[in-house]
Amino acid sequence: MGLEGAITTDNVLTTQLRRVVNWARRSSLWPMPFATACCGIELMATASSRYDLARFGAEVMRFSPRQADLMIVAGRVSVKMLPVLQRIYEQMPEPKWVISMGACASTGGVFDTYATVQGVDQFIPVDVYVPGCPPRPEMLIEGVMAIQRHIDEEGMPPSGPGGRRVPLGITVQAPTHALKPQPIGLNSKA
Ligand code: SF4
Repeated sequence: MGLEGAITTDNVLTTQLRRVVNWARRSSLWPMPFATACCGIELMATASSRYDLARFGAEVMRFSPRQADLMIVAGRVSVKMLPVLQRIYEQMPEPKWVISMGACASTGGVFDTYATVQGVDQFIPVDVYVPGCPPRPEMLIEGVMAIQRHIDEEGMPPSGPGGRRVPLGITVQAPTHALKPQPIGLNSKA
């Protein structure tokens, strides 16, 4: 949005503005579903009424990369399909995030063949790995919340030398049902 360039100084006003911008961004993640196999069904279940991804502001699935900022790779990716995946990722506007959902997207899963990509992180920066075959909707929601927590705290994705995008590389753990930090509300103390 160009706001980072406009906010050059640190004072109470800009700090509060930054919090509002971060809150808006994390509350309106628009996923780009790259669903190629059975994990895609679980992704659909996550958006349906029982799990209701809308509670996290991330239910607006966009099938145009120009309107999406969260790519969810759900399922195995063939070598033939890889250029399409990369092109869609490149067409998404910054700041953008990637979730690798399921064993196939993260490692190739049981498809240890020359025709299947053995982990999409070899070709696009993956911020959150959601393990499982398939992962349950709660696991995917945990992955979305991990990105939301990062946006709350840091705002933008990390970048390395030369502005190169550095993936967050977070792995979602199996649910323990212990309470975890929730996204920060606008009314809470920073
Ligand atoms: S991880 Fe399992 S459920 Fe997901 S696409 Fe691969 S085989 Fe299907």
